[in-house]
Amino acid sequence: MTTRLVIDWVACEARGVCTELIPEIVTADPWGYPLPVTGERDPVVPRALIEHARTAVKECPRMALRLSHEREPASMRVDRTAED
Ligand code: SF4
Repeated sequence: MTTRLVIDWVACEARGVCTELIPEIVTADPWGYPLPVTGERDPVVPRALIEHARTAVKECPRMALRLSHEREPASMRVDRTAED
């Protein structure tokens, strides 16, 4: 499962909460709008940062953030039964 941070650019008012809470994922552009550090529109949230990303979603004063969860395509799945 891949988790992505989705930013509603219309709702965002560059308050900067997310850039302070998850600087590993979004940094501020010159106007204070969040800029995904990877260059992706909807940046992947590493597993270790999911709780921080959830906090950013909750704390965003404009409710401009959400997390989306994608299943990996079958061809990308690891067969865990074969790992032992
Ligand atoms: S916390 Fe919300 S309003 Fe503030 S910069 Fe991030 S997305 Fe925009």
